[in-house]
Amino acid sequence: MYRILCALLLLSPFVSAQKISKSDKNIAGYLQQQVSYLASDELKGRRAGDPGELAAANFIASKFTEIGLVPKGDNNAYFQFFSINDGKMIDPASRFLVNGKPLASGFDFFPLSNSPKGSAKAEISPTLNEKGQPWMIDLAESFEENKNNPHFDLNNLLLEKTKTAASKGAPSVIFFNSVSGEDKIKFDTKDRSEPLPIAAIYLTEKGRTRYFSDLSSSYSIDFSVSVTPKMRQARNVVGYIDNGAALTIVIGAHFDHLGYGEDGNSMIRTGEPAIHNGADDNASGTASMIELAFLMKKSKAKQYNYLFIAFSAEELGLNGSKFFVENPTISLNSVNYMINMDMVGRMNDSTKTITVGGYGTSPNWKTMIDGIKKKTFTLRYDSSGSGPSDHTSFYRKDIPVLFFFTGLHTDYHKPSDDADKINYTGMVQIIRFIQQLIENDKTSQKLVFTKTREQQTTTSARFSVSMGIMPDYSYPGNGVRVDGVSDNRPAKKAGILAGDIVKQLGEHKTSSVEAYMQALSKFKKGDKTTAVVNRGDKELNFTIEF
Ligand SMILES: [Zn+2]
Repeated sequence: MYRILCALLLLSPFVSAQKISKSDKNIAGYLQQQVSYLASDELKGRRAGDPGELAAANFIASKFTEIGLVPKGDNNAYFQFFSINDGKMIDPASRFLVNGKPLASGFDFFPLSNSPKGSAKAEISPTLNEKGQPWMIDLAESFEENKNNPHFDLNNLLLEKTKTAASKGAPSVIFFNSVSGEDKIKFDTKDRSEPLPIAAIYLTEKGRTRYFSDLSSSYSIDFSVSVTPKMRQARNVVGYIDNGAALTIVIGAHFDHLGYGEDGNSMIRTGEPAIHNGADDNASGTASMIELAFLMKKSKAKQYNYLFIAFSAEELGLNGSKFFVENPTISLNSVNYMINMDMVGRMNDSTKTITVGGYGTSPNWKTMIDGIKKKTFTLRYDSSGSGPSDHTSFYRKDIPVLFFFTGLHTDYHKPSDDADKINYTGMVQIIRFIQQLIENDKTSQKLVFTKTREQQTTTSARFSVSMGIMPDYSYPGNGVRVDGVSDNRPAKKAGILAGDIVKQLGEHKTSSVEAYMQALSKFKKGDKTTAVVNRGDKELNFTIEF
């Protein structure tokens, strides 16, 4: 589960008590085995792109093989690979020679993390800056001036100094600090700040003392630097039951989790990093998806094909499901609907209530759910097709979705989300419910799709206003990429569209979703401001009225 929010609309009162059958008992046993393995310390929290995620993917693929699913990933195999952004790195080809001697990249020098690509070959003097030549800028004075300034913004200083140099004809700049001490400037792999207008290098203290020992003499320099995205590879696991039908039902669950919380998505921010086992989130949904594959393979219901997908990198912003819908291995037109299970392992035995999201995405859901005779729990409906998990990606492609969720708990996104806290018989009930839902529909007809309201991401009490946009949390660039806009909300009224990148609100730069949230908190109802937005290569201004 990615972001946590749920608006609850209706309450369905039908609950009937039931004895557990032998086959359900067996299923509960299999679920427990699978969750216990997936949520074991051995898999180190299944962080997307890490070895634990690969081990989990291999486990799921081995289950798919056992069931006899047809591989539907890349090249007739189960895995569908995709890259995820892991921040920035110094291009290994970056080099810097001074008087013919090479400096060590990352130690003696590095390009600033928001520097564009640049190169130069020149004869320069550190104390004399000329038009058309790389400038060398000593930061010692600025550091001295600001040493007691609590609002000192180093990145802004570098940006301003680079802009000034560029306006005076410098093609690139080399920053250094002539006063010895700790290097204050580091290469920031997570940088999202505004790109500098010209290439900028930082010469570390080591580099300065070794290669520019006399700041009054002149040096022949030759450099070529660039910053590139750092990637890691993740994979979805995709298996298929081909019944030769025209339409396919997608059944999905994400199998990745937070690892040690390296990506900043843990609820625990202090203390020693610990493995986040993610038993409920989402070993529970993964194991349920595998068991549904077993059941549907044996099922007599053959009016649809079934596609089972274990998504990766959900926790980073639904990356795996977004990648799948952009690169589907079956035609998306043939998808009848998508069922998502995320955090289905904590059914409360006394309240016996589960949340079903996406209820508004098709008028057919009501009839189909009413048709299920053996309801063993109470349903709470959330109409929205978008929400904090992978069904959102399918909803955005106009596919009806249902999202099963047993609710939040105090172990959410904490190392204590463990296998011994899971309600396995509760999971069996959800699996049986979904099985009936699928098998009861003998029409072989496509469900009707309806658009629902977008779920708001800014409902926290800190905000008195919102724009009505759904930010793309996986967007790695500078600004907030808009995934969707809600009807009758300020962004839509102003003319902002999905795909736009919001760079600024009023005087506040919105370089990331966090910065955007910060900016929003500065406004109140009735305020008017200007949003600076990039659309393609155009920069546009929109008047926002909150
Ligand atoms: Zn989660």
